[in-house]
Amino acid sequence: MNSFGHGRKPFGNGKRFIFPGADFFISFLGISCISPFGKFLNSKIKTKNSKLVAALLDWFAANARDLPWRRTRDPYAIWVSEIMLQQTQVKTVIPFWNRWMKELPTIEAAAQAPSEKIHKLWEGLGYYTRVRNLQKAAQVIVEKHGGQFPENFDGILALPGIGRYTAGAIGSIAFNQPLPILDGNVIRVLTRIFGIAENPKDKPTNHRLWQLATELVFRAKAQSSQSRKLPAFAVSAPLREKVSCSFLNQSLMELGALVCTPRSPQCLVCPVKKLCVAFKAGRVDDWPNLGKREAATARHFIAFVIEQDGKFLVQQRPAGVVNAQLWEFPNEECAAARPALEAMFRRRFKTGAAKIQPLCTVKHSITRYRITLAAFVVRFKKDSAERKGIWKTPAQMQALAFTSAHRKVLNAVTAGAAG
Ligand code: SF4
Repeated sequence: MNSFGHGRKPFGNGKRFIFPGADFFISFLGISCISPFGKFLNSKIKTKNSKLVAALLDWFAANARDLPWRRTRDPYAIWVSEIMLQQTQVKTVIPFWNRWMKELPTIEAAAQAPSEKIHKLWEGLGYYTRVRNLQKAAQVIVEKHGGQFPENFDGILALPGIGRYTAGAIGSIAFNQPLPILDGNVIRVLTRIFGIAENPKDKPTNHRLWQLATELVFRAKAQSSQSRKLPAFAVSAPLREKVSCSFLNQSLMELGALVCTPRSPQCLVCPVKKLCVAFKAGRVDDWPNLGKREAATARHFIAFVIEQDGKFLVQQRPAGVVNAQLWEFPNEECAAARPALEAMFRRRFKTGAAKIQPLCTVKHSITRYRITLAAFVVRFKKDSAERKGIWKTPAQMQALAFTSAHRKVLNAVTAGAAG
C-alpha cells in the first residue's frame, strides 16, 4: 500500500477591539525607535515580556508534566524525544522512548544498530524517514565529533534530519542556550498572546514569530538570576541548576499542549490571560489564522493476505518510497471502495483464487488522505506466479516491522490463526 505517513470575524462585534498585531508592532517599534515615544513603547513591551516570561516559568514549575526525557540533560536522550515527538503525541511517545533508550542507550549504539532493529523500535510511530535520519546523524556524530553531541547551534543544525526547531530545542533544553523554538504549539500561543492575525506560514509573519520567540528566550536568560521554584521532576543535580532557557521554551510548548489548545483553550485558568491580546479581544477562536484547509481526499486500497500451508506472503517496501523498508501484505490502490476482487487478483498474480474471504477493514488518515484498507484472505488455485516477497508464519511476521495499517491486518491474521 502506498501508505503515507477560520476565518476572521468582522470587527465591531461588541467586544473590546485591539488592533491585531498591535503588541508586536509596538515591540518592533520599541526595538527600532530611539524617539522618546519609541523609548516609552520599548520599556512597555519589555515590561510585558518580562511579566510574560516570569508567569510562564512559574506556571511551568507548578504544572509541567513529569516526562522521562525531562529528567535528564543528556542531549542524545533529548534529541530522541524531540524526533519522536514530531507529529506524535506525548502519551504515544513515552513507551517508544523508554524502549529505545533501553535498547540503544548511547549514540554509538544507535549508530551501529542494524536497520531492522531501528525500524522495529520505531514501528507504530510512522514517518520512518525520521528514524533513518536519526541513525545517519548518530553515525555523523560518531565519525566527525568523536561520539560527543555537538553543542553549538550550527553543529546541531548540520546533522541529518535536524531543522531549526529541533536544533533550538536540543540547544536550549540540553545546553540551556538562549535559542528560540517555534512549533505548532508555540505558534498558537504566541499568535494569541501577541494578537498576530496574519497567517503564520507567510514569510514575514513567520519571521516575526521567530523574533518573538528569540526575545522571550533571551529575556528568560536575563532573568535567570532571579530565584524561582523548580518543577517537581527537576530532582537531578543538573536540573537544579538555573536552566531558564530550557524551562521557558518548554513552558511555551507545555502551555500550548495543556492550556492554550487548538479547540476550547482554558483561558480562565491560563497564567498569562492578563497579557493575552486574543483573550482580551475575544479573538481566541480566530488565531492562529491558518487559512483554508485542503479538502480531505479518500483513497482505497485492497490487501491480499495469501496463505499457503500456514505461511503468508509478505513484502518489504523498497528504499526511496514512503515507509521504506517496512513490511506489508501485497496490496493495490483501487478507484472504487468495492472493486472486482477476482479480476484484480488474477491481473496481479496471473492465476485465479480458489476463495477470497474478507478479513478486516482498517481506516486511517495521513496528512490530507483518508485511507481505507480492506484486507482479504486468499487461497490460490495453484502456486502463485508472483515471487516478490517471502513466506512467513504469523509468529515470524511478528518479529518484522510492519506499517501501522498492515500491523492491524497482521493482528487480525494472528487472532484468526490463534482462533
Ligand atoms: S488566555 Fe487563552 S488564548 Fe491567551 S494564551 Fe491563555 S489559553 Fe491561550
